[in-house]
Amino acid sequence: MVKVGVLALQGGVREHVDMLESLGAEVTLMRRAAEIEGLDGIVIPGGESSTIDRLLCIFSLDDALRTALRNGTPVLGTCAGLITLATEIVDPAPEQRSLGIIPMRVRRNAFGRQIDSAVEVIDSAYGQVKAAYIRAPEVLAVGEGVSVIATKGERIVGVEKDNALAVSFHPELTGDTTIHARFLEKVRG
Ligand code: GLN
Repeated sequence: MVKVGVLALQGGVREHVDMLESLGAEVTLMRRAAEIEGLDGIVIPGGESSTIDRLLCIFSLDDALRTALRNGTPVLGTCAGLITLATEIVDPAPEQRSLGIIPMRVRRNAFGRQIDSAVEVIDSAYGQVKAAYIRAPEVLAVGEGVSVIATKGERIVGVEKDNALAVSFHPELTGDTTIHARFLEKVRG
């Protein structure tokens, strides 16, 4: 059985745990650098990316997480998780940084405010996905080696590079397992 750690500093953790378990993974909550050891995959959930960034520093998790991901540990980032994985945030909160794992430029809150949240069926490289958008980011540009795997109209909302997968939306909130199944394919190698 593969072991997946869900970063549990802030944000929508529970739904990821449930979905990954329903797909046969063993899931642990990750809050300390020592807990990264022995994980086959990592999920960075949605929430507030500037808060996640601050907590990564406070919990001294940022370096260990960056190192694990640079070394190829498969990762799925959703919404704030996508922002956390980016190399460039065009509208960061004051002092907000990101882990710089996927070469891409992202804009936060690109689809409106909380009140504009919506569930929509969108096209992905793995078939149609039922996607929930909550203050979702948009990928404005991708760098070398990054594949676009999901679009909402003309706009990029999902990317993949090597073992890293990131989407602007929340697949874990709609019960659609497409994106998590793809992530677990990478985890299982
Ligand atoms: N707008 C949030 C941010 O900037 C992301 C929202 C979400 O994860 N649902 O981090």
